[in-house]
Amino acid sequence: MSTTFKSAPVQALTTIFHYHAHVYYDAATREQAMLLRERVAQRFAVDMGRLFEQAVGPLPCAQYEIGFEQALFGSLVPWLMLNRLGLPVLVHPNTDAELADHVDHTLWLGGPLALRADSLAVSLQAQGQSAPRPVVINTAPLQEI
Ligand code: ZN
Repeated sequence: MSTTFKSAPVQALTTIFHYHAHVYYDAATREQAMLLRERVAQRFAVDMGRLFEQAVGPLPCAQYEIGFEQALFGSLVPWLMLNRLGLPVLVHPNTDAELADHVDHTLWLGGPLALRADSLAVSLQAQGQSAPRPVVINTAPLQEI
């Protein structure tokens, strides 16, 4: 039995800037995806990303991204567990390690789907970026969770 895991460093939670939830859909599930998008926006202060109607970069099919701060993790993620309308959702942290965030540090609700990870950075800093793109809240929730 390999014991290489024993030398793996323990990563501090402070390496997490914020989170993404990626909601995946196709032509048959697009209506559910739009309803889920609307329901999230009505209930959570998030950075609701634009629609990608086809595969782009590491993404295997149509999707949109929900960026959210750490404080929302404990409510938004369980809410998505209960209300994702059967859609696969990838939740991942955003650290300096973009590739690991999408491959190793993932939480899948439904799925998983195969990502095309070769376009992701092993280290953002090594590529000259100091941090992942910040979360910019663009929803104004009106309803109780
Ligand atoms: Zn992401």
